[in-house]
Amino acid sequence: MKTKFDILIVGAGIAGLSQALSLAEKEPTLKIGVISKSKLQETNTRMAQGGIAAVMSTQKDSYINHIEDTIKASQNKANAQVVKYVVEHAHDGIHQLENWGVKFDHFKNKYHLGLEGGHSKARILHVKDQTGAAVHDQLIAELSKHPSITVFEYSEVIELLLSETKEIAGAVLYNYEEKSTRILTAKIIVLATGGMGQVFQYTTNSSIASGDGIALAKNIGAEISNLKSIQFHPTAFKEQDKKQMFLISEAVRGAGAYVINENEERFLFKYDPRAELATRDIVSAAIYQELKNTATKNVYLDCRHFAKEVLENEFPYIYNYCLKAGYDLLQQAIPITPAAHYSCGGIQVDINGKTNVPQLYAIGECANTGLHGNNRLASNSLLEAIVFTKNMTESIVKELPKVTFQTLIKKSLNSLQLEHNSFDKINELRQQLRIQLTAYFIQKTEKEKKSLQELLLKCKNELKQLPTQELDVIHFKWHFDLVEELMV
Ligand SMILES: Cc1cc2nc3c(=O)[nH]c(=O)nc-3n(C[C@H](O)[C@H](O)[C@H](O)COP(=O)(O)OP(=O)(O)OC[C@H]3O[C@@H](n4cnc5c(N)ncnc54)[C@H](O)[C@@H]3O)c2cc1C
Repeated sequence: MKTKFDILIVGAGIAGLSQALSLAEKEPTLKIGVISKSKLQETNTRMAQGGIAAVMSTQKDSYINHIEDTIKASQNKANAQVVKYVVEHAHDGIHQLENWGVKFDHFKNKYHLGLEGGHSKARILHVKDQTGAAVHDQLIAELSKHPSITVFEYSEVIELLLSETKEIAGAVLYNYEEKSTRILTAKIIVLATGGMGQVFQYTTNSSIASGDGIALAKNIGAEISNLKSIQFHPTAFKEQDKKQMFLISEAVRGAGAYVINENEERFLFKYDPRAELATRDIVSAAIYQELKNTATKNVYLDCRHFAKEVLENEFPYIYNYCLKAGYDLLQQAIPITPAAHYSCGGIQVDINGKTNVPQLYAIGECANTGLHGNNRLASNSLLEAIVFTKNMTESIVKELPKVTFQTLIKKSLNSLQLEHNSFDKINELRQQLRIQLTAYFIQKTEKEKKSLQELLLKCKNELKQLPTQELDVIHFKWHFDLVEELMV
């Protein structure tokens, strides 16, 4: 078993895999490790439906339009230089994915472009309504061409290790199949651990999206920024007793679906003239306000006026999922709810993906590049991951010759005697954290804030009593740290 790597990449979604492939292509002799906490396919990347935003032709669209849409969606908080950079390099990212075998949908020899909320032009490249899965499959297939890449599945990084000089030196890995712990050493570590929807009560995110990378990085002194900017997606399918909610892509609203209240009224015009095509934050807030104003329980997404071919050809995955759940989109409007969807902030990085910790990089949803500000424009996140890959590769290849393997600090080795028991008390407290955090995020009142702070204090006291060498306790501590950071 290999334990020594030039570069260790934690995460195997679009960010982690693209980074690994890009590095392996550039320097085939580099030893690269890629770690996936669950099976390789379990990622948020696979769940992406809508697609990837890019200006591929300036005939009907322009960089300026995409830049302006991104900055407007961000509530003017995005970093203008980063936005310009990503938008102007989007076509390079798309061509890179095509070189790896991704085949975006075409119509009459041109890209078939979708429209999504907040975009002033149709510019979403997609593969039907399963873009993420199509991209991820190709990235996984490409891995086999590179013997220099070693993949660890069902393996979770539970600690990042520093040297005496506070540089990155390695990571502690827990393997769920073998129930064992080992240390990997690395010259450079790239965090690509994705989002953190699982710290909320309702989320569209995969079960792996618990913010681990952000908690791990914070633990070794990396700067975390803008974490409070969590995007709620307004159209998660509200199925009874489901925590991880099925997403009805923004592209369905782009294609003309209505959001209606219990009286079958399209109420969004009252909140924003763009109605269904307003950005996610505006639609989510409008839904909560409407439910409050009308004292009703549900709002619905209405596609009954769609032609059957549109649902069958453009949204087959969504249409069939709803059919299986007992809803025919041509006959019934379906109940929807806003759910935690995307983390705009995260580990602060520069334009090369470098953090403030020497030899630690971050990419993808766990990183805060400045592209999204307070609110991400739809389909800009897969784009961000692929565009940042190139810069990061250049930076890592330049940095590597100056870096040597570092001696690990002794204390970290304690984590090796790890236990994996389940603690009812922890499960209960974590669920309370999810519920109260969600209530606070939606309402942002002093009352909600106070009760969350009281709960955090209770958790803090509980943590003092719990054994530190337990996986459940480590996860509880990360959850606690993230909620604290979310309240900053
Ligand atoms: C339902 C849904 C639909 C979406 N639709 C779109 C869309 O149409 N367009 C768009 O641009 N964006 C979309 N997004 C957002 C986009 O999918 C994500 O932002 C993006 O895929 C994140 O990629 P990533 O590589 O950063 O993370 P992920 O794809 O989530 O991968 C994270 C990886 O990190 C690993 N990991 C996590 N913690 C650890 C640990 N402790 N140790 C080891 N490994 C770990 C996981 O196992 C996984 O391999 C959507 C998201 C969701 C949930």
